[in-house]
Amino acid sequence: MCRHLGYVGPPCSVRDLLTFGSHSLVRQSWAPKDMRGGGTINADGYGVAWWGREGLGRYRSAQPVWADPPLRETLSHIHTGALIAAVRSATESMPVERSACAPFVDGRWAFSHNGVVRGWPNMMADLAAPISATDLSRLEAPTDSAALWLLLQHRLREQPPVRALASLVLDVDAAAPGSRLNLLLGNGEELWATAWDHSLSVLVDENLSIIASEPYDDDPNWKSVPDRHIVSVRPGHLIVTPLRTGDL
Ligand code: GLN
Repeated sequence: MCRHLGYVGPPCSVRDLLTFGSHSLVRQSWAPKDMRGGGTINADGYGVAWWGREGLGRYRSAQPVWADPPLRETLSHIHTGALIAAVRSATESMPVERSACAPFVDGRWAFSHNGVVRGWPNMMADLAAPISATDLSRLEAPTDSAALWLLLQHRLREQPPVRALASLVLDVDAAAPGSRLNLLLGNGEELWATAWDHSLSVLVDENLSIIASEPYDDDPNWKSVPDRHIVSVRPGHLIVTPLRTGDL
């Protein structure tokens, strides 16, 4: 299972945000601690999306993050106060290529999925019915995560982020029981994430807010997100809500 990271806080270089701490995202790519049986390392590429004055920038590579020179040569020169990053462990039968690496982006939104959709793609039939042929043609890669992003984009046009994410997780779980659905979404000011059968932690204080598959250091203020919950964070703000149909 992939590992992802969301950050909103004081400006830092993209490289520092990926390498900071004794258990940074780069370290989690080759020595993750909490994969829960979903793979061993995250070597099938990585990606990062950052918000800046010119809007949303993105860099992705099919290389393992530790072996990709632009991490050092380029991403150390880009500074941002908001970022989403992911290191990938491709699910069996899904392609290892740049276009399959999260984050997926649209306008000011960036998105990552840590997990697997059981029975993909056959389980998509009903869920994808409301999506137009034009939008379906925008599927970036033949993977479950890219398909989830199409479904989520559609819902984000009509629903606020918490509702769009929560309804998507509940609908996908109903269509594909046993799926692992840790989703991460950001707009440059706020981050939202679901914990659905995978590890997730948050660190929030007055200045920063971080969501991570695994804590990147030993700071005692990291909080583990309980399974089947959704979190909203921004600096000085943390809301944790159960994912239940009746609460939507
Ligand atoms: N299933 C997704 C993919 O193959 C995510 C993989 C993961 O979380 N390991 O890209």
